[in-house]
Amino acid sequence: MIIVGAGIVGASFAYHAYQNGVDKITVLSSHLPGDTKQATSNTWGWVNGYASNDKSYATFRLANLNYWPKLINHISNLNYTSKGAFIWDQGEKELQQTIKQHQSWRQSVKISTKSELKKHLPNLINIPPMACFGADDLAIDGVRATKELFKASGSKIIETNVKEIVCESNNVIGVKTDDEIINDDEVIIAAGLGAPKLLSTINIPYEMNSSLGLLVYTKPLPPLLKYPITGFDFHARQDDKGRLIIGGKFDDDSSKEENINDTAEKLIQDMSSRLNYNGDMILDHFTLGKRPLPVDGRPKIGRLVNQKGEKLNGIYLAVMHSGITNAPLAGKLGIDEVLTGKRNNLIRDFSPQKIVTQEESQNV
Ligand SMILES: Cc1cc2nc3c(=O)[nH]c(=O)nc-3n(C[C@H](O)[C@H](O)[C@H](O)COP(=O)(O)OP(=O)(O)OC[C@H]3O[C@@H](n4cnc5c(N)ncnc54)[C@H](O)[C@@H]3O)c2cc1C
Repeated sequence: MIIVGAGIVGASFAYHAYQNGVDKITVLSSHLPGDTKQATSNTWGWVNGYASNDKSYATFRLANLNYWPKLINHISNLNYTSKGAFIWDQGEKELQQTIKQHQSWRQSVKISTKSELKKHLPNLINIPPMACFGADDLAIDGVRATKELFKASGSKIIETNVKEIVCESNNVIGVKTDDEIINDDEVIIAAGLGAPKLLSTINIPYEMNSSLGLLVYTKPLPPLLKYPITGFDFHARQDDKGRLIIGGKFDDDSSKEENINDTAEKLIQDMSSRLNYNGDMILDHFTLGKRPLPVDGRPKIGRLVNQKGEKLNGIYLAVMHSGITNAPLAGKLGIDEVLTGKRNNLIRDFSPQKIVTQEESQNV
């Protein structure tokens, strides 16, 4: 089996393929875990079940949230850095509705009152009147998880650019890299934003969107935040090295920022004014990552058809935002489908070439 892409999604496919007895897995990737050009290297790493007004997607996210701890149990050297998260990025009424909706979908979310917030976030200066508490939300180090999944998969990883997918009639026979042709009858494309270009080599038009996410890392600090927090115009969490990882408004696009260094410094200043800490908060470094965004916002996982609507054999696509949340089951259920031909209901609504309107996603 060939997997194109060594981010968290490729790693999950490799791990689950190996678990299912696939013993020859070759991963081809132009960037490796930790490289700044990967989305996985630039992630915030919040695993959660939220997808307002989209039950099908929220169900998939929740299933991933429940599956992550099981996966962690099977992989040595992998753990989450925190459990539980507080969110108050909406007005009170909206937040209450969001909580109610997600409770009705069996998510472990509840309202946290001001006095509870004071207890759990003792270093926060301006306590909001209320917040949503996601009891099972996790924070995961994306690069570490990716490396450990690959390590446990026994796959061979080659740093190379894939130029073309090679097909004969409607059957995949391999890929062409910068250096050679590698033959295989099963190719998984877990190439994030590289997927449209790869698919164009077999005449499949594939659109994806992208936005640029800025995250700043402080130098290590004493324990200040036990839980990730997301307010109206900021999100922050403290990792296991003691660094705060801070972003602005969730999903902000930094591509039009004129002076990114100033914006990074400002995020630190703003955060130091929000937290009770007398020492200096110093910028260590910042990351800028392109989010791989399927056009309708939902993951895209599955087999492809050509422009005549004919099935292509041996090619499987998996691209998504929230890949840290979604990769575990994308890989597990994706590999099940590749090996057995059976599609699990949890991914039923995420066919790669189906774009769902907002209205449709609210009705399924
Ligand atoms: C700022 C930011 C914050 C985020 N926060 C969160 C969060 O809190 N929670 C969450 O769940 N998700 C979050 N995400 C999203 C998540 O990080 C991504 O969805 C996930 O990392 C995507 O993983 P991937 O493996 O699909 O893509 P990538 O990590 O980009 O990996 C794709 C790989 O494919 C390779 N590739 C592409 N084209 C080719 C080619 N032609 N030949 C060979 N190799 C190729 C690339 O080199 C790359 O290594 C965030 C993303 C960003 C940028």
